[in-house]
Amino acid sequence: MKHRNISLSDGEQEVCSVSACGKTPKRSIPRKRVEKTGSLSLQGSSRKVNLCSDCYRIFKKSSKKDRTMESLGR
Ligand SMILES: [Zn+2]
Repeated sequence: MKHRNISLSDGEQEVCSVSACGKTPKRSIPRKRVEKTGSLSLQGSSRKVNLCSDCYRIFKKSSKKDRTMESLGR
């Protein structure tokens, strides 16, 4: 048999960088920006992290909140 379906190849499989998520990433975002929100626990150590649509929504929400707090805090 020459043709075998190997779903898990030796290539890196792209998954969401949020620990215990493991979904297919949709967005690539600088790690610093995600860490700044402090609402997602990331795994790995690359400069950019992959976020799935769910985690991206959380990130977006918390970064928005962050900005609001910044503008309110005076
Ligand atoms: Zn995710």
